[in-house]
Amino acid sequence: MAILHNLGFPRIGRKRELKKALEAYWQGQSSESELEQTAAQLRAQNWQLQQGLDWLPVGDFSLYDQVLDLSFTLGNIPARLQHLAGSELDNYFRLARGRSAQDSACSCIHAGEMTKWFDTNYHYIVPEVTAQTEFSLQSSRLLQQFREAKAQGVQAKPVLIGPLTYLWLCKAKDQSEPLALLPRLLPVYQQLLQTLQQAGAEWIQLDEPILATELSEPWQLAFVSAYSLLAEVPVKLLLASYFGQLGANLPLLQALPVAGIHLDAVRGRAEVQQVLQGLAPQQVLSLGVIDGRNIWKTDLTAVLDWLEPIAALLGDRLWLAPSCSLLHVPVDLDSEQKLLPELKNWLAFAKQKLQELQILGLALNQGRLLVAEALIDNAAAIASRRQSALVHNPAVQQALQQIRPEQAQRQSPYPVRAQQQAARFALPLYPTTTIGSFPQTTAIRQARLALKKGTISAAQYRDQMQTEIAHAVAQQEQLGLDVLVHGEAERNDMVEYFGEQLSGFAFSQHGWVQSYGSRCVKPPIIYGDISRPQPMTVAWTQYAQSLTTKPMKGMLTGPVTMLNWSFVRDDQPRQQTCLQLALAIRQEVQDLEAAGVGIIQIDEAALREGLPLRQSEWQQYLDWAVFAFKLCANGVADSTQIHTHMCYSEFNDIIAEIAALDADVITIETSRSDMELLRAFEHFDYPNQIGPGVYDIHSPNTPTTAQMVKLMQKAAQQIPAQRLWVNPDCGLKTRQWSEVLPALKNMVAAAQQLRQN
Ligand code: GLN
Ligand code: ZN
Repeated sequence: MAILHNLGFPRIGRKRELKKALEAYWQGQSSESELEQTAAQLRAQNWQLQQGLDWLPVGDFSLYDQVLDLSFTLGNIPARLQHLAGSELDNYFRLARGRSAQDSACSCIHAGEMTKWFDTNYHYIVPEVTAQTEFSLQSSRLLQQFREAKAQGVQAKPVLIGPLTYLWLCKAKDQSEPLALLPRLLPVYQQLLQTLQQAGAEWIQLDEPILATELSEPWQLAFVSAYSLLAEVPVKLLLASYFGQLGANLPLLQALPVAGIHLDAVRGRAEVQQVLQGLAPQQVLSLGVIDGRNIWKTDLTAVLDWLEPIAALLGDRLWLAPSCSLLHVPVDLDSEQKLLPELKNWLAFAKQKLQELQILGLALNQGRLLVAEALIDNAAAIASRRQSALVHNPAVQQALQQIRPEQAQRQSPYPVRAQQQAARFALPLYPTTTIGSFPQTTAIRQARLALKKGTISAAQYRDQMQTEIAHAVAQQEQLGLDVLVHGEAERNDMVEYFGEQLSGFAFSQHGWVQSYGSRCVKPPIIYGDISRPQPMTVAWTQYAQSLTTKPMKGMLTGPVTMLNWSFVRDDQPRQQTCLQLALAIRQEVQDLEAAGVGIIQIDEAALREGLPLRQSEWQQYLDWAVFAFKLCANGVADSTQIHTHMCYSEFNDIIAEIAALDADVITIETSRSDMELLRAFEHFDYPNQIGPGVYDIHSPNTPTTAQMVKLMQKAAQQIPAQRLWVNPDCGLKTRQWSEVLPALKNMVAAAQQLRQN
C-alpha cells in the first residue's frame, strides 16, 4: 500500500484571506486575536482540503514566513529586538517588516534582510547570527499547531526546516561561519523533536533542500554528525530533499540514519533507481512525483508505468507526494471561470495536484481499473495539449530562426554613448529618479475592476488613468526629481500587464502565490509561442512625456523576468521561450524610441532568480539570459539611455554578466544591506552608471535625509560620484502617497546636499 502525504500547502487561502487579515491587523483595524482566529480558520480549511491523504503537514502555515517562524522557535532573535515593548508577535512583525502594528511610523527598527527561497519566487527573512549566537527553544507555535491539528482529527506530520538548511540560510553579521553554531543548535532541535514526539508525533519531516545544491565537505560531514544526533530522539524522521537532483550528495543522504527519505522525483527522477538500491531494509522512500513548481497536469499514465515496479518492490515503504511544498502553486483551479476551456483542461493547482496524487494512490493500491475513467480523461488532456494550435505558431518559430548575434550589440561602447546622453539630458550630479511605480491606490484598483466588470468604458478608464499619471507627474515635478516616470497606474503587475497584451500568455483570476509576507503574485501562464500584436506602453508614456519638459523614462519588464515570474511551458527549453519574449519586447523598445522616449528602463528584477541551484549549471543559464536581455534592449541609438533595475540580488557571482548587459544605468536594491551589495560593483570596476537604492520600500518607515546622505557617501567611496544615481530600492506601488511623498522629499534633499559637498 503506497502511503500518500503532502509536504506543505499554500497558506494564503483561496481568496487571499491571510493577506487581508494581515493588512487589517497592521493598519490597526483588527486585533491580534482576530488575526490568530483567521489563521486558525485557514489551517483548518487547508487540512480539510487535504483530506484523503494519509499524512497531512502541520507547521507549514505561517503568518509571514516559515524561516522567520523557525528563528523565533529557536530563540534566534537579533539583539536590536530584545527588550522592546510588546508581545512576541510585535517583535515578529518588527523583524519581518520593520514595524509592529503598535509601533508609530517613525520607529526605526531595521527589518531583517529578505531573500529568495532557493530558485523559487518566495522570499524569506534571512536569519542573523554571530559567533556568539545562542539558541533556545522559545516559541511553542509548532507544538500548538500540532495539538490543534490533532484536536481536529488530522493525522498530522510536523514539518520544519532541518538544522543544516537553517544554518545555511543564516547570515553571519561578523564574518563568522554559521556552520560553527551547529553544536549549539542541535540540542534545541533535539528538544523540539522530543516535545513533538511526546505530544504524539509519529513522523516528523525535516526539509533539507540544500541537498539539491553543491555542498562542500564540512557541510557534508555536518549532515552525518547532525542526523546521528537527531536519530537519538525516538521519533521517525522523514528527511526531505527537493528542487533538484542530489548529485554528489546522494551517497551522503543514503548514509543518514533516518526513517524515511523524500526525493523530488520530477527534477530528480534520474536518481531514483540509485537511491532505491541503497535503501535500508526498513527505510521509507517518498517520491515527489507531482510537480510542485508548475501548474501542468501530470501525465498520470506515464508516472504509473514508471511507479508500478517500484511500488511492487517497496509495498508500504513507498510514499507518494508532490515534489515539494505546494506553497509555490495557486490553491484551486475550480475558482477559475475565465480560462479557455481547452487550456484549463491542461492545468492542475494545489487542490487538483492532491487529487492526482489520490488517483495515483488508488491505481497503485487497488489497480488502474478502479480509476480508469480518471486516467482516460487525463490522457486526453495530455494529448490535447501536445497537438493544440493554441500552442504552436509557425511565424514565431521562424522569427526565432532569424535572430542574428549583432542585433544584441549597442552601436558604440559605453563611454561614447555616455557623452551623447550627457549632452542630450543635461542631468545634475547625483541625478534623482524612482524605479517606476507609484502607489496603486484603492481608486486605481477600483477603476480597473470596474473596467473588467464593464461598469466603465475603456475611454473612461483611460481618462482616469491619465488623471493618475498627471498626478504622479505633478508630484514628481514638485518634489524636484530629475528623471520622471509615469507611475505605472495602468499596470496591475509588472509581468501580468505585459503578458495580457502578448499572445501565448494566459491569466488566472485567482491564481495567487505568496511572494513574501502578505504580498502575493499571480504568475501568468505561458502556454504557447509568444508574439506582440501591437504596442503595449507607448501611448501612456507619450502622454506622460507631454506633461513635462523633464525626461520621462519608458518602463518595461525584461524577457528574463517575464520568464522567471511565470509558470512556463514544460514542453520546450526555457531558453527558447525567453528568446520569444525578447523579440516581442524588443519591438516595444524600438517603438518607444521612435516615439521620442529617450530613456527606457527594462526591469530584470528576476534575472538572478533564474540561476540554477547548482553552480555548474550557472554559466549556461547566464549566457542565454544575458543574450536575451541584450537582444531585447540593445537595438537602439547611442543617445537613447537604457536603464535596468534588479531587486534582492547578491551580485558578487554574476557581476561579469551584469556588466555584459551593458545597460547605461542600473538601479539596484541595497539599502537593507547598508550598501554592502555595492562591493561587487566596486571590485569589478563596474564601468557604467549605478543607482544604489537608498531607502527600503518594503518598510513603511520614512527614511531621513541624513540616513540617505550617509548611504550615498558610503556608495561614493565605492563608485565615482559621476556615475551614481539616487533612487529608492524598488517601485513604490505597495506604499501610500502619505509615505512616499515625505520619503522622496528627503531623498531629493539628500541629493541636493550631496551635490554641495
Ligand atoms: N518598475 C517596477 C516598479 O517600479 C519594478 C518593480 C520591481 O523591480 N519589482 O514597480
Ligand atoms: Zn525592484
